[in-house]
Amino acid sequence: MTSQPYLVDRLQGFGTTIFAEMSALANQTGAVNLGQGFPDTDGPAEISEAAIAAIREGHNQYPPGPGIPSLREAIAEHQQRFYDLSFDPDTEVLVTAGATEALAATMLALLEAGDEVVMFEPYYDSYAAGVAMAGGVRRVVTLRPPEPGESAEGVDAYGFDEAEFRAAVTDRTKLILLNTPHNPTGKVFTAAELQFIAEVASEHGLLVVTDEVYEHLVFTGQHLPIAGLPGMAERTVTISSAGKTFSFTGWKIGWVCAPPELVAAIRTAKQFLTFVNGAPFQHAVAVGLRMSDDYFESFSADMASKGKRLAEGLRSAGFGVYEPEGTYFITTDIRPFGETDGFAFCRSLPERCGVVGVPNVVFYDTKSAGQHLVRWTFCKRMDVIDEAIERLGRLSEI
Ligand code: PMP
Ligand code: GLN
Repeated sequence: MTSQPYLVDRLQGFGTTIFAEMSALANQTGAVNLGQGFPDTDGPAEISEAAIAAIREGHNQYPPGPGIPSLREAIAEHQQRFYDLSFDPDTEVLVTAGATEALAATMLALLEAGDEVVMFEPYYDSYAAGVAMAGGVRRVVTLRPPEPGESAEGVDAYGFDEAEFRAAVTDRTKLILLNTPHNPTGKVFTAAELQFIAEVASEHGLLVVTDEVYEHLVFTGQHLPIAGLPGMAERTVTISSAGKTFSFTGWKIGWVCAPPELVAAIRTAKQFLTFVNGAPFQHAVAVGLRMSDDYFESFSADMASKGKRLAEGLRSAGFGVYEPEGTYFITTDIRPFGETDGFAFCRSLPERCGVVGVPNVVFYDTKSAGQHLVRWTFCKRMDVIDEAIERLGRLSEI
């Protein structure tokens, strides 16, 4: 990547996100966009109507710094209802401008320059940038893809080496950064894996920051918040967002749940990033979080059926497919086409067959581990998915 003349050293190389690049490519070429993960249909009308009502009722000025009380209460109720976790809405919940700000504010609040963060690769792109902005250093542990032909549904799918994980922890390690369900692999961390990570964190006195934005998109297994494991509540920062759960990614309402001292630290950083955001949307998200179980179940079931359809389509088009356990992404292997460069593949794909995907290599430090992998999203209408499948089917004919 070319260096940028004015950009500080610690942000060199971050350039433009892959999502922006690939969505621009889709717009320019008219390709079907299975790259950037945003739904092509709105979330529940009940929630958008609540946002409109909040604007009409005059909730249009700065909300309180930590978020409006009714949303903080709804977040605490949600954590209790789904996971039996108790948070005090006044001191243990903080509303943020999406999970992205929550992650950045957390890194800025908790890391001294040179502090290390143990995290898995592939990683969601903003983690590396967030750590870098805070002057931290990342120590990466690789999630190993299953061997070709193996199903990603096995327990070892995208597993990691415990010794490698332990070796990544040093005297400078401040925190472990976790993401489950995991973007881009679709992995859902198992109870045993979380238990292991929790043990390492406790042994070394580390904090755990866990990004759970896909918490309601689990198809195989169960979402387990690490904050619920013994001894973890006191050292865990849980981050989530309304964007994925309610299909309003543009509203950018996220949150942090953590013990009071951690929330206080993160709030200090957060107040100088955005201060506050999205007053009327905060009212609407409070309505969403209180919706009945039916909503959450049908949302996940609908996404699961789209995932199945796309997985089958990708398989019949000739890709090696890693079936996701959660999220709305599928990772594929392009080597069956005799190709190994996922980046070149994605850049040429609109011209070759009119579809856009995302090269997983950008989520890796160990480029060799991800160069042949490409991610597709299925948070699109079924007819869009079918159109993409038909176009991708032409690849093997070219
Ligand atoms: N974490 C992960 C794993 C994501 O995929 C995304 C993208 N939505 C985010 C964080 C950012 O979430 P938000 O849009 O709420 O900032
Ligand atoms: N989270 C979305 C994805 O992984 C993208 C969000 C963004 O563009 N920053 O595709």
